[in-house]
Amino acid sequence: MTTGQDNLTDGMHLMVDALKKNGVETIFGVVGIPVTDLARHAQEVGIRYIGFRHEQSAGNAAAISGFLTKKPGICLTVSAPGFLNGLTALACATINGFPMIQISGSSNRNIIDLQQGDYEGLDQMNVAKPFAKAAYRINRPEDIAVGVARAIRTAVSGRPGGVYLDITTAMLSATIDADVAAKSLFVPVDPAPKQIPSNSAVERAMRLLAQAKKPLIIIGKGAAYSQADEAVKNFVEKSGIPYLPMSMAKGLLPDNHKQCAASARGYVLGNADVVMLLGARLNWLLTHGKGKKWNPDAQFIQLDIDATEIDSNRPIAAPVVGDIGSSLSLMLDKLSSYPMQPCKEWCDAIDKIKSENSTKMATKLSSTSQPMNYFNALKAISDVLDKHRDIYVVNEGANTLDDTRNVINMYHPRRRLDCGTWGVMGVGMGYSIAAAVTGKRPVIAIEGDSAFGFSGMEVETICRYKLPVTIVVFNNNGIYRGTDKNLGGGSDPAPTTLTIGARYDKMIEAFGGASFNATTPEELRTAVEGGLQSGKPTLVNCVIDPSVGLESGHIGNLNPKSTIKK
Ligand code: ADP
Ligand code: MG
Repeated sequence: MTTGQDNLTDGMHLMVDALKKNGVETIFGVVGIPVTDLARHAQEVGIRYIGFRHEQSAGNAAAISGFLTKKPGICLTVSAPGFLNGLTALACATINGFPMIQISGSSNRNIIDLQQGDYEGLDQMNVAKPFAKAAYRINRPEDIAVGVARAIRTAVSGRPGGVYLDITTAMLSATIDADVAAKSLFVPVDPAPKQIPSNSAVERAMRLLAQAKKPLIIIGKGAAYSQADEAVKNFVEKSGIPYLPMSMAKGLLPDNHKQCAASARGYVLGNADVVMLLGARLNWLLTHGKGKKWNPDAQFIQLDIDATEIDSNRPIAAPVVGDIGSSLSLMLDKLSSYPMQPCKEWCDAIDKIKSENSTKMATKLSSTSQPMNYFNALKAISDVLDKHRDIYVVNEGANTLDDTRNVINMYHPRRRLDCGTWGVMGVGMGYSIAAAVTGKRPVIAIEGDSAFGFSGMEVETICRYKLPVTIVVFNNNGIYRGTDKNLGGGSDPAPTTLTIGARYDKMIEAFGGASFNATTPEELRTAVEGGLQSGKPTLVNCVIDPSVGLESGHIGNLNPKSTIKK
């Protein structure tokens, strides 16, 4: 691509050419100074540009498309405020281990560095560093090819993460000979190389596993990310070991698999003697492997690509540092040399708890409560999703998150996309848009009313691009619930209260989407089925009893309560 003068191109065109050459199919962003033309040129060369209403959602879309494809998702932002809006998503991608690149225009270095007050002036690269896996700046068109290659390799190698790539206004308009520019472009070779663990690490792990009387495998989203689906399935099934899926690893094996111990979670964590972590961290989501939930004598095997993760929370007896695919295939090769102990007693005990708990769950799901509670509402959705098993389920909220995770079964890998490692709210619409665009499948977003509010304006984006997204807002009038009173007695709503009786469905009507207000399980079933069948943007306001939510959902223990009453 050349500019007006035949033998010249500029930074903006070359940047687009470099992305195109590296196989970038989609850019998620918000345009403005100085990147508007860059987005236009991207469209011109056939890169899809999805324009959002807020950079955080664009960033979330890029992050989750990285998770789905193992290629860095690209987010484009304008300088200073746009950059900062996107940075939350970049930080979140890094924490979650999703590969993404936030490419941001920036103002004039000479003015920024002397702090002379440029339009949207900020030392963006240095601001980004603590939140990104790495931050780079391209100052000259000659460096674009290397800058893009470094960003890609950093995002996808080892533990994936978010990379910040700063492109200055001066660089975007600087010219370069078109032939020199074209010759400079290249695609990095083997950007995410296999990491093969040592034989001794593999044997140590197998030895420990073969001694276990009550083994357990915990499958995390690192395993989902690695796309070693066959190896995971084979290892679990050939070893016969019960497993627990972490939230975004649900569906790697179907949730109704006979070895799935999800509904006996407390029992298996409390009793397992050897726990094999498969791309899952012993962070807060697993109470750091400590405390009353856990067998204090449990020994750990940990498969992870990042050596620094090992021993981060509990001593790991058998670390296997490598990529999940390579590690598991080596372990599979050794399975016959290290036969597992008979599982009968342990597996029978788990099955007994599973069946008790599923009876309790069935009772909750058959609730006839009116207005609906989380369970009879989710039962209605689950009835519909049973007929649409291969779609994406995006999920955020507090109770809406916890109860959906427990009720909605997943049957395919990487279909459940949720709040992830930070338990962050506001990912819902960005994730939904990316899942529809990148994953090319319908999406249902099951959203708490508060969670939905963080990115609710993106319903316009969903309608503008005519995406097959059905949003169900679990509306209980507030954060956690809608019944709190203002402790000061004034007329302002309590901190957790949102508009009573809000009609979120009306929002999507403004942009031509389909809307439903569901007050009974039957209405909800019809609405969700209608949305999924039509493949059109749909928003269902699902009226939930305002008094039923638990404060902070299942993690109320993390929420400090004032001990002194005034
Ligand atoms: P979850 O929240 O599902 O428990 P985490 O995000 O806590 O999962 O853990 C995922 C782990 O997987 C991280 O420690 C990360 O380093 C690791 N990981 C990511 N990709 C791979 C891979 N390809 N092979 C092995 N480990 C991986
Ligand atoms: Mg985890």
